[in-house]
Amino acid sequence: METKRVVIQDIQAPKDEELLEAAKLLAGNGLVAFPTETVYGLGANALDEAAAKKIYAAKGRPSDNPLIAHVARMEDVDVLVKEIPQAGRKLMETFWPGPLTLVFPKSECVPYGTTGGLDTVAVRMPSHPVAKRLIELAGVPVAAPSANLSGRPSPTTAEHVMQDMNGRIDMVVDGGAVNIGVESTIVDVSGDVPMLLRPGAVTIEMLQEVLGKVEIDPVILGPVQDGRKPKAPGMKYRHYAPKAQMTLVEGADLEEMSGKLRALAAEKIQQGYQVGIICTEETRAKYPEGIVRSIGTRGEEDTIAHNLFAVLREFDDCGVTYIFSETFPKDHLGQAIMNRLCKAAGYRIV
Ligand code: AMP
Ligand code: MG
Repeated sequence: METKRVVIQDIQAPKDEELLEAAKLLAGNGLVAFPTETVYGLGANALDEAAAKKIYAAKGRPSDNPLIAHVARMEDVDVLVKEIPQAGRKLMETFWPGPLTLVFPKSECVPYGTTGGLDTVAVRMPSHPVAKRLIELAGVPVAAPSANLSGRPSPTTAEHVMQDMNGRIDMVVDGGAVNIGVESTIVDVSGDVPMLLRPGAVTIEMLQEVLGKVEIDPVILGPVQDGRKPKAPGMKYRHYAPKAQMTLVEGADLEEMSGKLRALAAEKIQQGYQVGIICTEETRAKYPEGIVRSIGTRGEEDTIAHNLFAVLREFDDCGVTYIFSETFPKDHLGQAIMNRLCKAAGYRIV
């Protein structure tokens, strides 16, 4: 299959002509990758079991890992869910359109092929102008997991999508680099107390402000323990895994952290290995050797989220054997950043 690439001229105001072919593919049985404000999604008709199967095949994704259904308007949620609990309604009103996915009890229309066999369905309304208009034109809810091969870092540019999906999907809608860079926050509102299943740009602090009490699925804070099942099935897989062995380095302050990291890197470099170092603008000058990449500015954590997956991909491409990364405070957006870094490192932290 040849993967067609359609470049959107103005992502703030995409033209319908630019999106019509993609929309037709989505309404039919096709696979189309498109930009959202979080990462690139790999879209297919969420109500069509066969289309969902094609997503799993293209990604090499385990079929028990459910897909998020994307909608263009609030009212499009109704057909997908049995009911909208009050907490869900409040969150929709506050954060939609935006980087928040909500898990509801599913309606009969949603095939088990989309929900990985679960009786719940995850739904999100993206704010990205291209995603919004494309879903509207398709006229169906669009199931769209991240458009990477299973186990690879999520794609934040159309180039990343092509690296993984060229020849496996019908089309990539190219809207340049995405804004946020980490996947959506997921909150389960199907039970009595809302529960955070995956941290993202809508932070736990923001959720608590709206809801008061929010539980946190313990698996987002540490490795999956035997017998403890994450509520978001996808969280059990070693996502975002770079090819290199990755280690996170903690320290009481930046001085101690960078000192430790520098010593660990030096040891491997001396043994003749290629070593990647993930640092920030504040600490870049502290690393005289290794392949050093700054992922952003500590004072502006959104820059770190934005660059994180691109840096992991870059290290994959340049073939380093070891990666050492600095760590970040775990509050606000830092919770999402550390969740992704911990998973990428397989929780190897020193
Ligand atoms: P991705 O779209 O690749 O970011 O992955 C979707 C994430 O949403 C995975 O971690 C899934 O496990 C999670 N998810 C999707 N549907 C549900 C659901 N019904 N209940 C819990 N988690 C879900
Ligand atoms: Mg994913």
